[in-house]
Amino acid sequence: MEKLSNEALRAFRREADDRYKAFVARGVCLDLSRGNPAPEQLDLSRELLNAASDGDYLTSDGIDCRGYNGGVLGISEARHLFAPLLGATPDQVMASGNSSLALMHDALTFAYLHGVPGGSGAWHKAEQQTAFLCPAPGYDRHFRICETLGIRMIPVPMQADGPDMDVVEELAADPTVRGMWSVPQYSNPTGVTYSEEVVRRIAAMQTGAPDFRVFWDNAYAVHDLNETEQERVASLIEACMQAGHADRPFVFASTSKITLPGAGVAFFASSEANLSWFCHHVNRRTIGPNKINQLRHVRFLGDLDGINAHMSRHRALLKPKFDAVLSTLDEHLGGKDVARWTNPRGGYFINIDLHGGGARRVASLALDAGIRLTPAGATFPYGDDPADQNLRIGPSGGTVEALRTAAEGLSLSILLAAADGHLA
Ligand code: PLP
Repeated sequence: MEKLSNEALRAFRREADDRYKAFVARGVCLDLSRGNPAPEQLDLSRELLNAASDGDYLTSDGIDCRGYNGGVLGISEARHLFAPLLGATPDQVMASGNSSLALMHDALTFAYLHGVPGGSGAWHKAEQQTAFLCPAPGYDRHFRICETLGIRMIPVPMQADGPDMDVVEELAADPTVRGMWSVPQYSNPTGVTYSEEVVRRIAAMQTGAPDFRVFWDNAYAVHDLNETEQERVASLIEACMQAGHADRPFVFASTSKITLPGAGVAFFASSEANLSWFCHHVNRRTIGPNKINQLRHVRFLGDLDGINAHMSRHRALLKPKFDAVLSTLDEHLGGKDVARWTNPRGGYFINIDLHGGGARRVASLALDAGIRLTPAGATFPYGDDPADQNLRIGPSGGTVEALRTAAEGLSLSILLAAADGHLA
């Protein structure tokens, strides 16, 4: 677009405006703002709800899942089944309630209030404000936990193989930097899987804080969009053990996008010292998790082959939606030099970067056209995308046809904003 004459630009702007207005008149309404599994995906787990209704509520080690007994670690079958998704051994895993985000919130709050093993006390009592490294674009809800607790967030650029490790290593040398967020596989929102080298460097780096923790949110551990090109991140727990930093990783995952986001099972995995620290604090707020739901999950999914088969049924529903959005973006924006977008191999998001900025304007134009996007800036700490260029879309809800339409409306919003930006 940069090479267009003013006259050509005005013509481009007029055309973009006409097409945008015609689209608005169609009265579309679709929400692309969150990675929400569609009802057909939830239906894949219908049998889960009956999977513990035969009167047998006993685990293999004889615990009656209806009762209080069993403790906070969850049932051993669930810990065994999901340990590989966390890159952990079963004894390093806690199976918990439905939300991994709640576990992340707990872990950070416990650290803030009480400190972690190997540290010098509660983070909130430290002389200088605790800071966290935040690879960005990243997951907005991670950043909100930090904001709530008053933890200073430092953005780190995301690259094709994970966060920029030169920057991470330099910043982590500061003793006030006590942690780092990571979505290491099919990252939200960029779709990036951290390379082995990045995992190794995170595990091995020298940190200024002796109690540095990596919050490793492996939310998309088995969520492939391509059957043949599956990416798997290396185990941070193993890498940290090899590097002599066994207590560094706090690993999280859940079945929210395997079974049911509102009624799944979430997991925490870490070293022996961290797990017993976490159990101690969790036990102050609960006698134990919903073990019936854990039992249902184990019976419904069975084993790793069962999980993979189940995920291939999700893929069959999700892939055509991603393809529809990607081909529509290509059709309208291809070759126009206004934006670049990802073609992820897994996860729930397509990440769009606008070449000339204008993400807030695009989100607002799209909203006026009936398409709700994640608020521009949300993928950065404090909602502040310095280049105002990043947009995240979650193309899992709605039908393939509705998504095609939404992607058209989004493309027209991008074209109009780009034309305005160049004329301004
Ligand atoms: N972590 C990431 C990276 C996510 O994208 C999401 C949901 O979109 C979550 C965590 C939420 O997980 P849960 O439902 O287990 O709280």
